[in-house]
Amino acid sequence: CGIFGIMGHPEAAPMTALGLHALQHRGQEACGIVSYDGEQFHAHRAIGHVGDTFSAHSVVSQLKGNAAIGHDRYATTGGAGLRNVQPLFADFEFGGFAIAHNGNLTNAGRLRHQLVSRGCLFQSTSDTEVFLHLMATARGGNVIDRLVEAMRQVEGAYSLIALAPEHVIGIRDPMGFRPLVLGKLETASGTSHVLASETCALDIIDAEFVRDVEPGEMVVLQGGKVTSIKPFQPAERRFCIFEYVYFSRPDSVVEGASVYQARRRIGSELAIESPVEADVVIPVPDSGVPSAIGFAAQSGVPFELGIIRNHYVGRTFIEPSDQIRHLGVRLKHNANRAMIEGRRVVLVDDSIVRGTTSQKIVKMVRAAGAKEVHMRISSPPTTNPCFYGVDTPEKSKLLAHNYSVEQMTELIGVDSLAFISIDGLYRAMGAPKRAGNARQFCDACFTGDYPTPLTDNEAAPRRS
Ligand code: SF4
Ligand code: MG
Repeated sequence: CGIFGIMGHPEAAPMTALGLHALQHRGQEACGIVSYDGEQFHAHRAIGHVGDTFSAHSVVSQLKGNAAIGHDRYATTGGAGLRNVQPLFADFEFGGFAIAHNGNLTNAGRLRHQLVSRGCLFQSTSDTEVFLHLMATARGGNVIDRLVEAMRQVEGAYSLIALAPEHVIGIRDPMGFRPLVLGKLETASGTSHVLASETCALDIIDAEFVRDVEPGEMVVLQGGKVTSIKPFQPAERRFCIFEYVYFSRPDSVVEGASVYQARRRIGSELAIESPVEADVVIPVPDSGVPSAIGFAAQSGVPFELGIIRNHYVGRTFIEPSDQIRHLGVRLKHNANRAMIEGRRVVLVDDSIVRGTTSQKIVKMVRAAGAKEVHMRISSPPTTNPCFYGVDTPEKSKLLAHNYSVEQMTELIGVDSLAFISIDGLYRAMGAPKRAGNARQFCDACFTGDYPTPLTDNEAAPRRS
C-alpha cells in the first residue's frame, strides 16, 4: 500500500490526493482520504484509482482542513470490499482518529480473536482494525500512549500514518520493513510537514526530503513542529529488499539509496554472475527496465525495447482474480519484431512468481522470430510467501517452490535461465555478505528466513 499525510497546509486534501497519485503503483484497488478542519473530520473512500476518485473538485473540496492523511490500497489481508478501504476511522474519548497502514501484521488473527472474546465488534476484515481496538482497550492515556500500547502488542510489518485532532503521526515498526519518509514544504502560511511511503510523493508536491522515519520511531507533527519518540529498543533492521527489486518507484530514494541505481547495480551484478552470448538485451517492461540497462551496460550487449507495453492496463500482478491476471498479460505486452527477429535475446525481468508472465512473454518473443531466448531475473527465486505486505501467493503456487531452475528453464521454454544469487543481491545493495548479523534486509521470500514469529501461520517456517 501507499500512505501519505500532511500537517499545516491550507490545501491538505488536494496535496494528499497528489501524493496518493504518485504512490499509485503501491496499490491500485482502492483509495481514501480523511481530513480534519479543527472541528470535524471529513472522509472519502472508494474502490478504484486516485485519478478517478479524487479528480473531481467537488469531492476534494469537501475534505476541508489543514491536516489530512490518505491511503492507496493493495489488498493483502481482508477482502476487497469497501469496508476494508482505508484510512480507517474511529471515535475515541480523546476525539476522532484515522489510520492508514502499509504492511501486514503477523499476529492480527490471534489479537483479533482475543479482542472479539473481550467484546470488541470488528467492522472490517482488515488486519489494520486491530490497532483501533487495541487503542480503545488501552489503559487510558492520550493518543500517543494508546498508540504505543497498541504497538507493543502487534507483530509484523507496519508503516502507519495517523490523524488525530492536533496531530499527524508517523510510525515505523521496529524492524522497518516498509518505507516511510518525512518531508517539509514552505507555504505562505508557514512550514507544513509531510509523511509518505516514498520520496516520489514528496517530489510531486515540491516538498523537500528531510529524512527517513527510523525503524521503531514515532514522529508527531503538530503546530509546525516535529517531535520524535522512540518507544522501542532498537531491533535488527530488516527493510524489505524487494522494495528495491520491484515494489518502490525507480525515482524514489528509500532508506538512503536510489531505487533506480539499486536496480541498475542488480542488473550489472546479474551480468557478472550469469553472462550470456547474445545480440540484444530486452527488458520486460516496466519493472525489468532499470536492471536490463544495468545488464546491458555491464555485458556490452545492446539494450533495445523489444517488448512494448500498453500503459492503459494496470500492473498485471495487482489485478486480484486469476482470470484477469491471465488475460492481463496479453493485454499488456507486445513483441517489437524489428528488434527480435533472427536475434539471440536476453530477457530481463525482476521476478518470477507463478511463472505466468514469463511463459507468455517467452512464447511471444519466440513467435516474433528470436533465434535464442535467455532469461535473467533480478531477484533470487521466490520460494516463500511474504507475510509483511506484499501479496505473493501461497507457497504451493510459487513456481520456484515447486521446481528447480533446470525444471523452470524447461517450463518457461527458454534456452537458459538464471536468477541473481542472494549474495549478489546484497553486493548490489552495497551491503556486506548476507551472513550472521550482517543481514540488513528482510529477504524471507527468497530465503525463508522470516525475521518475526509468524504467529497466525503456525504451519509456516519460524525464525531459527
Ligand atoms: Fe519484502 Fe520478501 Fe520480506 Fe516480504 S518477505 S518483506 S517481499 S523481502
Ligand atoms: Mg513485471
